[in-house]
Amino acid sequence: MAFSLEKLKTSAKAVRERAYVPYSHFPVGAALVSLDGQIFPGCNVENASYPLGLCAERACVSQAVAVGVRKFAAVLIMGDTERPMPCGGCRQVLSEFGDLQVFVASGDGDDVKSYWLHDLLPESFHLAPDRE
Ligand code: ZN
Repeated sequence: MAFSLEKLKTSAKAVRERAYVPYSHFPVGAALVSLDGQIFPGCNVENASYPLGLCAERACVSQAVAVGVRKFAAVLIMGDTERPMPCGGCRQVLSEFGDLQVFVASGDGDDVKSYWLHDLLPESFHLAPDRE
């Protein structure tokens, strides 16, 4: 593993504190790590127009892509539920950049489960010719 799971948990926990969730009151933090070890944190950002809300995972992807990073090793998602699984939309957005490990951490990260994105979104839709 070319990254520290503890650092991902620390990052996700910290960014979860900044989630903007006045409607659901369900803060989620996520930390996406690139193949070269850079960590991109993200939190959910809700909106009065509910469909415009942004999930934590997609916030991470936006940050990474904005600075030219598109190769990822893993993402950790932390929420106060038994298994804060990524929604279908986030699975699709993450899969645009290839396969990666998906860690889901309940509460403050005491219980972490690990998956591969290709198992969470089998036979996914792709058009990008250079996707790995
Ligand atoms: Zn989502």
